[in-house]
Amino acid sequence: MTGSALAGTRAPSWVLCDRCRLPIYGKRLLRAQGVCPECGHHRRLTAVERLAQLLDPGSERPIEAPAVAEDMLGFVDQVPYRDRLSDARRRTGLHEAAIAALGRVCGIPVAAVVMEFEFMGGSLSNGVGELITVTAELALEESCPLVIVCASGGARMQEGALSLMQMVKTSQALLALDNAGIPTVSIITDPTFGGVTASFATLCDVIIAEPGARMGFAGARVIERTIRQQLPDGFQTAEFLLEHGQVDAIRTRAQLRGTLHRLLSVLAARPRRTDVGNKPVSTPARRPPALLTEARQLPAVDSWDIARMARNPSRPCTLDYIRMLIDDFEELHGDRLGGECPATVGGVGMLDGRPVMVIGQQKGHTAAELNQRNFGMPLPAGYRKAARLMRLAAKCGIPVLTFVDTGGAYPGVSAEENGQALAIAENLKLMCGLPVPIVSVIISEGGSGGALGIAVADRVLILANAFYSVISPEGCAAILWRDAAAAPQAARALRLSARDLLEMGVVDGVVAEPDGGAQADHEEMAQRLGDALRAALDELRSVPGPELVAARRARYRAFGRSPANSCSTTDARMPA
Ligand SMILES: [Zn+2]
Repeated sequence: MTGSALAGTRAPSWVLCDRCRLPIYGKRLLRAQGVCPECGHHRRLTAVERLAQLLDPGSERPIEAPAVAEDMLGFVDQVPYRDRLSDARRRTGLHEAAIAALGRVCGIPVAAVVMEFEFMGGSLSNGVGELITVTAELALEESCPLVIVCASGGARMQEGALSLMQMVKTSQALLALDNAGIPTVSIITDPTFGGVTASFATLCDVIIAEPGARMGFAGARVIERTIRQQLPDGFQTAEFLLEHGQVDAIRTRAQLRGTLHRLLSVLAARPRRTDVGNKPVSTPARRPPALLTEARQLPAVDSWDIARMARNPSRPCTLDYIRMLIDDFEELHGDRLGGECPATVGGVGMLDGRPVMVIGQQKGHTAAELNQRNFGMPLPAGYRKAARLMRLAAKCGIPVLTFVDTGGAYPGVSAEENGQALAIAENLKLMCGLPVPIVSVIISEGGSGGALGIAVADRVLILANAFYSVISPEGCAAILWRDAAAAPQAARALRLSARDLLEMGVVDGVVAEPDGGAQADHEEMAQRLGDALRAALDELRSVPGPELVAARRARYRAFGRSPANSCSTTDARMPA
C-alpha cells in the first residue's frame, strides 16, 4: 500500500511496513509522520501530507497552479496523454505533480514546493516547471527562502523537449535567488532522479536527504543494463550520497523542521526580519580583552617547545570550540563534486546571536578519531567544501569564521590526482575577494599551505601556544640540515611562534592561554577565544563588502615589501 493511506482524517487500523513487513498500528504510524517505529523506514508521503508536516499549522497560503500549455505534442502511447493526465488528477485530487504554498517554518516565512510522486511519477512537466518557477519568483518578491521537496522519476516524456526546457527555466529561477541572496533548500525524498536531480534538486544552497532516499541521474536498473556491472551496496542512497559529497545532511522526518529552522535563522538573517525564535544579539563581553596585539606583551619562548605544545592531543579541537561557542550549529557536508573530507568541518550557527559560517580543520583526541579524521590533513574535497560554504556565506551576507589546525594538506596519490594544489590556490583567490568579514584563528598547528587554504582573512588570530609555519620543523630539518633530529634548531630558525608572527604582522592578535595551556582548561580557553572572535566580528560587521576586500588586499599586498619593517630576520619566510 502507498503512503496515501495516511491521508484523510482517519488512519487505517493496521498497516504493513514495506521494509520490515511488521504490522504497525495506524495511529502510531500517523503520529510518527509515516516513519515505521520498528525499522525507521520513511514511507512515502503525499504532497498534501508533506506540506502539512513542513509548515506551521494555519500558516499555509496555497499558490494556485499556473495555467500552462498541455499536451502540445498530442502524445499517444498505449493511452492518450490527456487520459493519463485526467486519470492522475482524479486519483490524487491534484492538478499537477507538485503543489506550492507560502507559509512559515517555526515562524520563518518560506515559499515551499512539494512534488507528488503518485502523480505520473512526479515527472517534470510544463505545469510542474511553471509552478516551481512561479514559487521561486514569489520567494524573490517576498524576500523569503525557497524550500523544495523533491520526488521524481525525471522529465515527463509525454511533453517531449519542452519538459527538458523546464530544467533550464527552474535553474534560472534559482539563479535569480542566488543573485538576490535568498537562501534555497531542497529536501530529497525517495526517489529523486533524472531531470529533477539535474536541475533544481541539486542547485539549492543546502541539500537535505531523508534516510535511505535514493537520488541520481540514471536509475540503478538502467546503469546495470548499460554497463553490466554489479552496483555497490546502498548505491545512490542518501548515505552513499553523503559519503560522496553530494548532500549536506541526512535528517529524519522528526528532525526536519528543527534543522530548517536553524539553517534559515542563519542563512535568511539578512535582511533582518522579526522571526520568532531569533535570538537578539547580546552586548559584547565586558571582561578584559584576552587579545594581545603587541609582541612585547608576550614572553619570549622557545619555538621548539611551542611546536611540541601545539601538537598536544589534549588541546581543544575545532569541534570542541564549536560545541562551546557556537549555538544551533548545523553541520554541512560535501564539496558537491564527489568528495567529502573528514578533516574539514563546516556549517552554520550563532555566535552569541550573530549568524556565522564556521569552517575548521578537525584532528580529534583519540587514536580512533585521529584515524577517522585523517589526522587533520585535509583532502582537496575539504578545500572545495570550504569554498562552497564561503560562497554561500557571501551569498547570504554572513561572516566567515575559520579554525585552523593542521599539520598540512594530505600528501597522497589521490590528493594529487584530485588537484590538491589547485584546490588550495582557488581558495586563496576566493578569500581575497569574498565580500563578507573573515576571521581566522590558528588554534594549534598552522601547517603551511594546508593551513593557509582556509586562513586568508581580515583578522588572523593565533592562540599563544599555537604556531604557523611554511614547513614543519622536522621537514625543514630534513631538507636543510639533512637531519630530522635538527628539528629544534629548525623550529627556532623558522620563528614560528605567536610572538614572532605578531612581530611580522602575519597575525593581528594573540589570544592568551590559561595556565598550563589550552589543554588545561578547555572552557576558559573557549571563553577567551569567544571574546576575541566577538570583538573582531563586531569591528568588521558594519564595514561594507568592497571596503573589506580593499583592506584585505592591502593587508596581503604589504607582506615582504619593506626590509625596514619590524621583522628583524631577513630569512624569515612568509607563507606564499
Ligand atoms: Zn518497518
